[in-house]
Amino acid sequence: MNIDNKLLIIHENNCTNCRTCQLRCSFLHFQEFNPSKAYILIDSTGLFPKISFHKDCKKCGICIDYCLYDVFELVEVDNQ
Ligand code: SF4
Ligand code: SF4
Repeated sequence: MNIDNKLLIIHENNCTNCRTCQLRCSFLHFQEFNPSKAYILIDSTGLFPKISFHKDCKKCGICIDYCLYDVFELVEVDNQ
């Protein structure tokens, strides 16, 4: 996924499954603290959480701003 023309790298092994990103997304878009309504998806059935984004994600970047565990990294992409 790209945000602000930067490539989003996801370090899933750093995720603690705290769900702060989902709470922030659902509150922003639905005025509810409800992880099931978030556009960021966390599958915690495996050894490490698997993170993905719903097709309706607005790419606003708010969820990644609220993660405290260095899961997300935005890197400049040279488009030339
Ligand atoms: S990505 Fe970050 S905010 Fe979201 S559940 Fe994992 S550690 Fe928490
Ligand atoms: S980028 Fe925005 S819309 Fe997409 S999951 Fe994160 S907070 Fe939700």
